[in-house]
Amino acid sequence: MFWLNHIMRIVSMRRKHMHFQDITYMQHALQEARRALQEDELPVGAIVVLNGAVCGVGRRSHTGHSRFDHAEMIALRIALETDYKNAHDMTLYTTLEPCIMCFGAILNSRIGRIVYALEDPYGGAASLKPHHLPVRHHAQFPVIERGVLRENARALFQIFFQTTKHKFWNNHSENPLVRTCLTDR
Ligand SMILES: [Zn+2]
Repeated sequence: MFWLNHIMRIVSMRRKHMHFQDITYMQHALQEARRALQEDELPVGAIVVLNGAVCGVGRRSHTGHSRFDHAEMIALRIALETDYKNAHDMTLYTTLEPCIMCFGAILNSRIGRIVYALEDPYGGAASLKPHHLPVRHHAQFPVIERGVLRENARALFQIFFQTTKHKFWNNHSENPLVRTCLTDR
């Protein structure tokens, strides 16, 4: 019984430590998101962490012009160029739930863990389950943590939707992501 309690205490301490680290790294991703916001881009920031070191950083660019320049894609590319063999030990932090393109890239890269802040009921794909996906991805499905510093990310998206000059986003009051951010709750 003593050993069981001891092990449970260690697991619980590790979880707390992991949570503390998640907050620190998400703050870093939020910094990138703020830089994107200053450039009138969707405030998506992403970082990739391996063994306590940041090995990839990205932020959304060309909102309204490119459908590919997503923060996660940029951060993943840098991280995998650094060390693709240890991708399963990497964690990707992003301020918005990854879209289907980024989620596909995450699966292909075999990143072990995803942590995101704000859910995206418009384009988010992180709720896909392994059985929705090709067999290739069943064995190595990432661990997903949701809602870390969600309100901080939501506040940035609120500012973006209230101030952006991008026509697509300022004409979309019925868009589920816009509603998530602009509705008081
Ligand atoms: Zn994406």
